[in-house]
Amino acid sequence: MSLPALFISHGSPMLAIEDSPAHQFLVGLGKSMPQPKAIVVASAHWESVNGVAVSLAAHPETIHDFGGFPEALFEIHYPAQGAPAIATRAADLLEAAGFAVRRSHDRGLDHGAWVPLRLMYPKADVPITQVSIRRGASPAEHERIGMALGKLREEGVLIIGSGAFTHNLYALRGAALNQDAPAWVRDFGEWMHARLVENQREALRHYRTQAPFAVRNHPTEDHVLPLFVAMGAAGDFTKAERLHTSHQYGVLAMDMYAFT
Ligand code: ZN
Repeated sequence: MSLPALFISHGSPMLAIEDSPAHQFLVGLGKSMPQPKAIVVASAHWESVNGVAVSLAAHPETIHDFGGFPEALFEIHYPAQGAPAIATRAADLLEAAGFAVRRSHDRGLDHGAWVPLRLMYPKADVPITQVSIRRGASPAEHERIGMALGKLREEGVLIIGSGAFTHNLYALRGAALNQDAPAWVRDFGEWMHARLVENQREALRHYRTQAPFAVRNHPTEDHVLPLFVAMGAAGDFTKAERLHTSHQYGVLAMDMYAFT
């Protein structure tokens, strides 16, 4: 039996050290599934322009790709091994699906990967590789990236899209961690959820023009595109199960999904 593909909302880097319902959920999530052979993460924080980038790093460094946060966050190092053999398979599958691929030998783990994975697998005992999202490419193209990677699920590999269900950082300033979500955030989330559970792919691909307040919730698309990678990794006829829902700082929806 293959593992589900997951969409994880990683919220703010503070998720690593700040207790919250989403933090607690991720702590339990790793234990709730069979241990994967390796993990492939498509993170919002690795964008490529030409083709899809894949990390073949054997010992990926922990990248602290954020600023203005407490020193404690910069001191965290997540020592998971890389997964060069799985990454090579991923690169081959992407090329077979028609994508140009750029192989990196030194790309480490950005916080979209290590923040949630350190909560899920605190022993750092699952090898991890990352693939990039493509700046300016459509949701449909990211779905096809996921479809290509989905074959790895049969080999015990966990595919994760790591982004945010809503992600307006301009509206986040000054908000408290447990602040209520405004209607424009909730309305968008409810629209997305309804289409996800009904597998309405065509509507989802056009979320930007069809969903209420889509552009306000995602001023740029980088944090929603990993959702399409995860969805694609489960194939055409997916069942989407919402594993978790909460909000942080009012405007960051932390919804997480399993696609099977
Ligand atoms: Zn992020």
